[in-house]
Amino acid sequence: MTAAPPLNPQPDVVLVGAGVMSATLAVLLQELQPDLRIVLLEERGGAAQESSNAWNNAGTGHAALCELNYTPQRADGSVDISRALKVNTQFDLSRQLWASLVRSGAIPDADAFIHSVPHISFVRGAADVAFLGKRWEAMSAHHCFTGMEYAEDHAELARWMPLVMEGRDPNETVAATRMVSGTDVDFGALTRLMIAHLATKPTFTVGYGHEVTDVKRENGRWTVEAKDRASGRKQRLSTRFVFLGAGGGALPLLQKSGIPEGRGFGGFPVSGLWLRCDVPALADRHDAKVYGKASVGTPPMSVPHLDARVIDGNRALLFGPYAGFSTKFLKHGSNADLFLAIKPDNIGPLLAVGRDNMDLTKYLIGQVMLKPSQRFASLQEYFPNAKQAEWELAVAGQRVQVIMPDAKAGGVLQFGTEVVASGDGSLAAVLGASPGASTAVAIMLDVLARCFKDQLPGWTPRLQQLIPSYGRSIADDTDLCRQIRTDTASVLHLAEPAVSTAG
Ligand SMILES: Cc1cc2nc3c(=O)[nH]c(=O)nc-3n(C[C@H](O)[C@H](O)[C@H](O)COP(=O)(O)OP(=O)(O)OC[C@H]3O[C@@H](n4cnc5c(N)ncnc54)[C@H](O)[C@@H]3O)c2cc1C
Repeated sequence: MTAAPPLNPQPDVVLVGAGVMSATLAVLLQELQPDLRIVLLEERGGAAQESSNAWNNAGTGHAALCELNYTPQRADGSVDISRALKVNTQFDLSRQLWASLVRSGAIPDADAFIHSVPHISFVRGAADVAFLGKRWEAMSAHHCFTGMEYAEDHAELARWMPLVMEGRDPNETVAATRMVSGTDVDFGALTRLMIAHLATKPTFTVGYGHEVTDVKRENGRWTVEAKDRASGRKQRLSTRFVFLGAGGGALPLLQKSGIPEGRGFGGFPVSGLWLRCDVPALADRHDAKVYGKASVGTPPMSVPHLDARVIDGNRALLFGPYAGFSTKFLKHGSNADLFLAIKPDNIGPLLAVGRDNMDLTKYLIGQVMLKPSQRFASLQEYFPNAKQAEWELAVAGQRVQVIMPDAKAGGVLQFGTEVVASGDGSLAAVLGASPGASTAVAIMLDVLARCFKDQLPGWTPRLQQLIPSYGRSIADDTDLCRQIRTDTASVLHLAEPAVSTAG
């Protein structure tokens, strides 16, 4: 790697990390105020080499169409769809921004990053079948989930997902729901496309090979120290606004910033493994993302799924994830990451989470101890005729689950995404990994609302051009929902729900 030229020492905005989060925020800021001088710093030699890379995540366009953990069953047996509705309509925000970028030519081709892949929830056994039936009744009655299909009949299910049904006991009690409007998203390609577009702007610079080593408040501005990994040279950038979109690397930098809002936060790393199959004849026969039900007492990210993937124009299958334990905060991180992030202010929350999450500890130990034959047996629950020789083990991205201070429990483990922003709006960090990249636009709109309050009224008309539903509720407005989905489906070349009339 050769030493990079010096960076603008006084930009308006510094973004740390070239993943989907920083890329999304940079695109929004550039569209909203084209004269903002933006510097993006990334320690790796290119964009999207951590969680946003296509092979490091499952590429599910999370719209709560198939993920059963978003629809818990209440004590009275009814199914609560409120979380599913939230995630579902957050994904519409992403679709709208992506469609605007494609329409304007900023992203030349939607097929380079998003494809229609039906989303299926698949369950086995009478109790789970009963749950799925209730969930389908509750969801399909809402206009946001119009077109959700339900089937118990093996022949119909075999048409939806032949690999899942072939070799299965014909008397097994099974059921599934399907939404043909589901998607597979290559978030790595999307990130690279957004950054390539930004790089055509004179006000945007990206510094690859630059590791941010410190973030300090000095004289009412932030000083960001970046080390050029090739030369070892350090540069200091002074800026009004810093965004820590560093994935697993965000927590240590948040701690360095010393903002009071970051006190007490900790991180718990969970590594992941997939089984991957690149045999074209199999990949061509599985056109779905089939999500099952997590076992009782296991965390939400343990939900097994058999995914059709479309990456660089090639089709592949992924099954997993299997969890593991690693003390690294990034796939390319250091084993010391977990220990270096233990501070006097987060020791209490960390211990409280250790005490209250024995289920998670047991689950992780169980996963780490799995033998290859046991891993393969869980794949066969979804693909009975799978052959071991056709699958290889692949390492997924690293998740850092958020540990938050909590007045009552001392500390809680959170499986979602958390934006931590300074009270004056001059710094924001994204922690956590779920629903993740799919909801990057909703998360960045939250960052804008908290950190650019004064500019937002002036930016709103442009935001409404980029994201036509901005400020309105797709969940409450059937016509708006239909109009937005038809429009984005057409620009992004996506399938529409099987039934187009709203309930
Ligand atoms: C196993 C797994 C499966 C997932 N499945 C899905 C899914 O199906 N759908 C979905 O929507 N989401 C999914 N996610 C979540 C999604 O991948 C993440 O939410 C998203 O990619 C996070 O983007 P990011 O930009 O915050 O982080 P990243 O993509 O990790 O980018 C952070 C960047 O910061 C850089 N960096 C870190 N520290 C520094 C530093 N000090 N200086 C400079 N650069 C630094 C890193 O090198 C990296 O490039 C999954 C995640 C995992 C791990």
